[in-house]
Amino acid sequence: MRDYEIVPDAEVIGWRGACTCGWRGMMWIRVGSAVEEDLPRRRAYIPSSGFSDPSASVEEAIEGEWRAHVMPLKLVDEVRAAAREYASAGERLTDSVAEAKAGGATWAEIGAAVGITRQAAQERWKNARYPLR
Ligand SMILES: [Zn+2]
Repeated sequence: MRDYEIVPDAEVIGWRGACTCGWRGMMWIRVGSAVEEDLPRRRAYIPSSGFSDPSASVEEAIEGEWRAHVMPLKLVDEVRAAAREYASAGERLTDSVAEAKAGGATWAEIGAAVGITRQAAQERWKNARYPLR
């Protein structure tokens, strides 16, 4: 299925952004004359010429609306990537603590390496076993 439709110039009543997720931007209304144009009120004049593409400024505005729509999604992608790294780093920390303990390190030494007390280190990793897997 195409995500656009070609219609005769005279049938174009306006323009708006669209996204594959289903989002639709607010409509930019096509007005019939230059004096009716009012871009702050989303009213744009494009003379009939066989093509009714929006002007560059309307196209830029529509692109800006779409960018504002996808920005939160991009930011959440960054959160997802950071969370993945955080979980991976946590697993590596647990593995290295278990290996250090099995290798003879004390809870005080492990705690000092992490920046926590001996008691906190022991409490946190007392059940970690090496090798873990
Ligand atoms: Zn979208």
